[in-house]
Amino acid sequence: MKRDKISIKWNIFAYLSIFTGVMIVFLWFFQTVFLDDFYKTIKSSKIKSCAETVAENIDSSDLSNIMLSLSRQNDISIKITDKNGVSLDSIGVGPNSIIDRLSNEEIGAYYSKAEKNGGTSLQTFSEESFKINFKKPMDDMNFQDNNRPPDNRKKMESMLYVDIVSKKDGAKVMILVHSTITPLDATVETLRTQLIFITVIFMMLSIALAVFISKKISNPIVKINDSAKELAKGKYDTKFEGTGYKEITELNSTLNYAANELSKVDGLRKELIANISHDLRTPLTLITGYSEVMRDLPGENSPENIQIIIDEAKRLTSLVNDILDISKFESGTQEIELSEFNLTESIRNMINRYGKFTEQKGYNISFIYDEDTYIKADEMKISQVVYNLINNALTYTGKDKSVTVKQYYKDGYVRIEVIDTGEGISQEKIPLIWDRYYKVDKAHKRAAVGTGLGLSIVKSILDMHDGRYGVESTEGKGSTFWFELKTL
Ligand code: ADP
Repeated sequence: MKRDKISIKWNIFAYLSIFTGVMIVFLWFFQTVFLDDFYKTIKSSKIKSCAETVAENIDSSDLSNIMLSLSRQNDISIKITDKNGVSLDSIGVGPNSIIDRLSNEEIGAYYSKAEKNGGTSLQTFSEESFKINFKKPMDDMNFQDNNRPPDNRKKMESMLYVDIVSKKDGAKVMILVHSTITPLDATVETLRTQLIFITVIFMMLSIALAVFISKKISNPIVKINDSAKELAKGKYDTKFEGTGYKEITELNSTLNYAANELSKVDGLRKELIANISHDLRTPLTLITGYSEVMRDLPGENSPENIQIIIDEAKRLTSLVNDILDISKFESGTQEIELSEFNLTESIRNMINRYGKFTEQKGYNISFIYDEDTYIKADEMKISQVVYNLINNALTYTGKDKSVTVKQYYKDGYVRIEVIDTGEGISQEKIPLIWDRYYKVDKAHKRAAVGTGLGLSIVKSILDMHDGRYGVESTEGKGSTFWFELKTL
């Protein structure tokens, strides 16, 4: 079979890969590209908040302790000077702190810069620029971090935050907060290596997950597909099994239902072929038999025998007509031609036509009606309905051989009832008799004649007329088949 669609497995894998890919790209961006910026932002806000805390406590007697704990917690140096750069307090200022190395003039320069800037100023500068700016050799600064690789040391950066605040006595002082910014290159490098591992692991995981999910999803589908192929071959007892998830269970029960319906149709089709061939064979055998007898034996050429041939030919015709009708109804090509006519008159004529037959066989058909009723319907088809019902009633009626047809008016509808005194139909069979090819008792006297199509034709015609119909039956007492059509 040609596969022009991507299988579920590859689809899932593709989606999972895209998902993993996007996730990893995000991780790369945040962990490597933006990491430095994040770090600096966090650091600067920490320095600022430390300076604020100092500013809030500038008049506190506990200021030194506060500064000490801030310095320890955040690994920063804090210095408080007056506007001329004279140190008033200084904490955490180790030998590697730049602010310890600033001259009073330089601090004074920061003061005026911050003053211009509205009281605060934040600067970041690399060690190199610091060297140039402050002309103090780095080696003099005695950095503790001497074991850092030289290129990393070069990239060391400092952040200095300056905040001018007024003390209670009105004197302006300057708070300097300094922090060293550790270069993140090594960290980024580590993260990169980690991310490579993560990428590989996630890719493998997504393959494994894709295989697992697709198996879980596609296995039941593959199973259903196999069963469906069996069904297509005509094995109607195929059972669709497959668990996993709701949709699959639902699909299974739908397919089981379909298989069941197909098997019913198939059963009916087989039965119909058996029926029809049987039904066709009986009259054909009779016709051939009688014709041969009449040809060979001159004395047998009697009107009775010819009548038998005619009757059997008629039976054949009506059987073929039934089959044609039902196939037209089924294909939906049958149309109704509406006309206004006298239904009562039509039924009266019909019953009259039975006259000879009923006389001969001792049947009695009575027609009870109150007044002539007109309806708008397809006269031919409605006659067919009445014929079918009367024929059935005649066939199945009881020993008294009587059939009653009643017509009466009921809320804008005319109701026709065809009543017999036969064996009746059991309640559970009633819904089935309207089905195509259904016969209650296959060994019944008329089983050889009826095709099980009559009531199905009745149903189709009445459905086309939006009519109502049904049957009330008491076993052993008889049945009443009825239908109702709108009157004019
Ligand atoms: P059939 O050609 O076999 O009569 P129908 O479709 O007309 O087919 O009827 C279907 C089945 O319904 C019949 O085989 C019969 O068993 C049952 N049936 C129909 N009419 C009557 C009735 N008046 N009394 C009892 N059984 C009936």
